[in-house]
Amino acid sequence: MPVRILCVEDNPQNMRLVRKILKLEGYTVLEAENGLTGVQIAQAEKPDLILMDVNLPDIDGLDATVRIKQQTDLHHIPIIALTANAMYGDEERCLAAGCVSYISKPFNKDNLLAIISQFLETKRETNNQ
Ligand code: MN
Repeated sequence: MPVRILCVEDNPQNMRLVRKILKLEGYTVLEAENGLTGVQIAQAEKPDLILMDVNLPDIDGLDATVRIKQQTDLHHIPIIALTANAMYGDEERCLAAGCVSYISKPFNKDNLLAIISQFLETKRETNNQ
């Protein structure tokens, strides 16, 4: 079964870029344009990993992350935060909300793919134990 990644991103250009990178890598991409839709799709689809933009039009990405992490059947899904305008303390805030990692925009394609595969790998190892 293909690996499914949910991308929560309100900027259409960023979404297009991430979609292209992930599809070329063979991932199936699920998309949400705001935080509440992201939480709903996470519940409905239980993706393998979530890329979470922090600045979203409704609830922010960290609030969405907390809501996802509160649900026992979604708690295992690695969430990677992506944020523009990186500020001091952002990484700590993302990790405190339950994200496994943090990437500042503009991101590097190889770096993005490396971090994704790192956390997919971690998940596989955990499931095999
Ligand atoms: Mn945004």
